This record gives sequence, structure tokens and C-alpha cells, in this order.
Amino acid sequence: MQELDSVVSDIIVIGAGGCGLMAALMAAKKGVRVLLLEKTDKPGGGTAFSSKGIRAAGSRRQRELKIADGPELYAQDILRRNNNESDVVLTKRLTETSGRVADFLTDMAGIEFQIGEFAFGHGAQRSHSWKADKTITDFLFETVEREKNIQVRFSTPVLSLQQETGGAVTGVATKDGVLTARKIILASGGFGASAELLARYIPKAVDIPFPGHHGSTGDGIKMGLAIGAATENMGAFQPYPAYIGPGKRAVAPEVALSGGIMVDAGGKRFVDETRYPGGLGIKMLELPGKQAYEICDERIYQLHRNAPGLRNLSGFFDAGLLLKADTPEQLAGRLAIDAEGLKRTIQEYNDSAAGGGKDAFGRALPQPFQGPFYGIKVTVALYHTQGGLKVTPDGQVLRADGSIIPNLYAGGGVAVGVSGKGLEGYLPGNGLLASLGLGMRAGEHAVASLDK
Ligand SMILES: Cc1cc2nc3c(=O)[nH]c(=O)nc-3n(C[C@H](O)[C@H](O)[C@H](O)COP(=O)(O)OP(=O)(O)OC[C@H]3O[C@@H](n4cnc5c(N)ncnc54)[C@H](O)[C@@H]3O)c2cc1C
Repeated sequence: MQELDSVVSDIIVIGAGGCGLMAALMAAKKGVRVLLLEKTDKPGGGTAFSSKGIRAAGSRRQRELKIADGPELYAQDILRRNNNESDVVLTKRLTETSGRVADFLTDMAGIEFQIGEFAFGHGAQRSHSWKADKTITDFLFETVEREKNIQVRFSTPVLSLQQETGGAVTGVATKDGVLTARKIILASGGFGASAELLARYIPKAVDIPFPGHHGSTGDGIKMGLAIGAATENMGAFQPYPAYIGPGKRAVAPEVALSGGIMVDAGGKRFVDETRYPGGLGIKMLELPGKQAYEICDERIYQLHRNAPGLRNLSGFFDAGLLLKADTPEQLAGRLAIDAEGLKRTIQEYNDSAAGGGKDAFGRALPQPFQGPFYGIKVTVALYHTQGGLKVTPDGQVLRADGSIIPNLYAGGGVAVGVSGKGLEGYLPGNGLLASLGLGMRAGEHAVASLDK
């Protein structure tokens, strides 16, 4: 990383989160001078909040472990989840890139991947995680620090884009003046922290918690709109249906997958809880106070009591958040919900599980609950917005008439992702796929078209 005062750059990247760090590295590795501008005083953005893992198909690690998977299968999983609402070419281009993203992270950032199961719509083992206690952006920024072609300026918010008469983008305005470059990549994240944009595009998310990054104020989207860029799927967001409170505390989705259920204040179930996260999140948004109670039994508690990070059930138990009781009625009393309702729900659950078929929501339950029982109050949170500027599969920003705004790219939360129009289209991992995948593609394409 260079410490230069004079700025001569081929490419300016706006935002030092997952997308921006990846785009900067891809460009710099090809010998191009990159200026990375970040409005806060450190790298990471919302990407540093995500769990320790990416989804990738066709990676070297998968091949070493002889895991049958590929970009085509991954694209099918995404399109099935979003009901074919995402751009098919963009979706396929990102899944084709996902394996290269994983290989790049191994080669450049030294990440040793382990591959685990992750269901909820993924048709293959493609969850690539790591043991080290680091975020993905820790790895990426360490690599940026070793890269002589990248200059980084923190505490430098980009205010607007500069254009020449024909519409080509030529630079950016900052509080210190205008900086010019031949290509500009918008990687400034989504708009979960902008009350103004949420009110305009996703009113139902205005009053739910946003545990993401404070820099996600939609600056890149606003800058794109100001020069005629088109947007798409602006009402889409990823709800997290088992949020507990600040500090990223949330019940892991695996609790529901192992047999956990959600009930309302009447003690009644309201959805197939394995429709994670969107199907469950949508139903929770309809509940009074957008609140539910996640219930499990001793078997499930023991399975997840030592889950990693801030998700372990024993931590919630010790903190007095996860409550325990010998009977459903006692648990309902402790949670201040309807006792008869919860008792009936657990009876129905047990009848259905013992019968081996599907329950009223179409869910096959693993086995009857056996006390003691556990319950925790949860709410639905906004994890990230998924709509954004319309882009080509290489991240070039488009106008409403389909023409390309010359020299301008967008990725991650600034660009429309691959989760479709609403809340149900998010397949876990789509956020980082759009961030790292489009970052890689935009960085590569910007370099390849520098002299065009
Ligand atoms: C708690 C939580 C958990 C999540 N878990 C997952 C997960 O497991 N898997 C998954 O796929 N997704 C997950 N997501 C979503 C995922 O984190 C985002 O989709 C992704 O990180 C967006 O990346 P990005 O690169 O677009 O933006 P960011 O990583 O947010 O980076 C944007 C950067 O741009 C900076 N910036 C903003 N405006 C300006 C400006 N005007 N000038 C200069 N810099 C600017 C910001 O300060 C920030 O540093 C999670 C989100 C949350 C909140």
C-alpha cells in the first residue's frame, strides 16, 4: 500500500468493504494504479459483519475434496429461490466467478478453506469457511497493505461523480477537491442505514433494527441516480428472522433446521420455519410488534449450545435471554405468551413428528420434542438491502434505456443483486456473492477496458 500525497490513479474505488477491496486488488494485481477511498476511518464495511464463510461453486478446494458442484447448479439454486427474478446472465456470471473468488482468497490472502454443509436452498456443499478468528475483510485488507499499486485514503467520503459533456465519468468530488481517474468503481454498500432511502423504497423496514454498517447510507446509489443510472428491485432486502439485539446477536438458522420452531404471542406457529430467511421473515413482519419466540427442546439445545461466535445457545442461556422450563406451560409463563396455545402447538408438533409425515405448513419435523424446553424472544432485522443500480454482468452501470454510462462500475450493495424483487428471493450467501463476485468482475473489466 503506497503512502503518496500526489494522486495519479487509473482507477478510483469508492468504499473499502468487500466489493471495494476485491475490486482494488484485482485491478492492482494487473499492474494498474488504484486509489481506494473510504469514508470511515477503517476498512471492512458491512462485509466485516457477515459470518465467516462464502459460498462458491467449482473452487479448487471443492475439487480437492471431490465435491460434486458447479456454477450451473449454483445458478439454478439461486434462480429457484428468487423465482427467476434475477438477471439470468448476471446470476450465471457471478456463480461462474464464485470459484475463482475462493481460489483467489486462498492464493492471495492465504485463506485455508474448510467446506461444510449448508442447507436452506443450497444443493451442494459449497460453504467455504475458515478457522482463523478473522473476517473476510481482515484477510483482504492485509493483502491490500502488501500491494504497492494501491493507495488508501480513509475518512474521505466521496460526495459526487464528475462527468464530461458526453456523459463519461471522469472523477469524483471529495471535501478536499476533485480526484480524476479513467475508471470509477462504486463499492459503497447498500442503504440499510439511510432512513430517507428506506422510507422511499422499503417503508416496511423503516422501524426494524439494522445491525449492519453505519456507512451503508446509499451514497453510491444516490450518486448513480444523480447522473441518470437506472435502479432495479429497490424494495428487496434480506430480513434476518431470529435477531436478538445489538452486537450481531442472533439465533443461528441451524436451530430451526434441527427442529426448532417459531411461535407468536398466542403460542401458535405461523410458518414453515425452514423457509429461511425470507419466507420466515415475511411472516414475522406481519406479527404484532414484529416479534416471535423461537422454541426448542433439550436435544436441539445440546446440538447448538456451543455454536460459534455470538450465536451459541449457552451464551444466550447464561445471559438470561434463552429461558428454560420443564413443561410447555411453564415455558410460556416465563416468556409471557399464551400457555394453552404453546401446549397445543407442542402437542401438534409431536403428533406430526411421530407420524413421520408433513405438518400443516408442509414441513417434515425431525422428531418429537422432549422436555426440558427452551424459548427466546426474537425479532426480524434488516441485514442488507438488495436492490441497486442496474449493471451489466461485469458491473458496468446502465441507464434506463440500456446504454452504459462510460467508465462507471458498481458492485455489492450499490448494484442490484441476485435476490430478485422481494424478501423471499435471498439464498444465503447472495450478499457476499454480489460483493466479492461483482468486485472481482468490475476490477477485471475496468482494467481490460482502460485503453478503450
Ligand atoms: C449482521 C450481518 C450479517 C451478514 N451475514 C452475511 C452472510 O453471512 N453472508 C452474506 O452473503 N451476506 C451477509 N450479510 C450481507 C453482507 O454483509 C452485505 O451484502 C455485503 O457485505 C455488502 O458488501 P459491500 O462491499 O457492498 O459493502 P460494505 O462491505 O458495506 O462496504 C461499503 C464501504 O463503503 C464505504 N462508503 C459508503 N459510502 C461511501 C462514500 N460516499 N465514500 C467512500 N466510502 C463510502 C462504507 O463506509 C463501507 O466501508 C450480512 C449483513 C449483516 C448486517
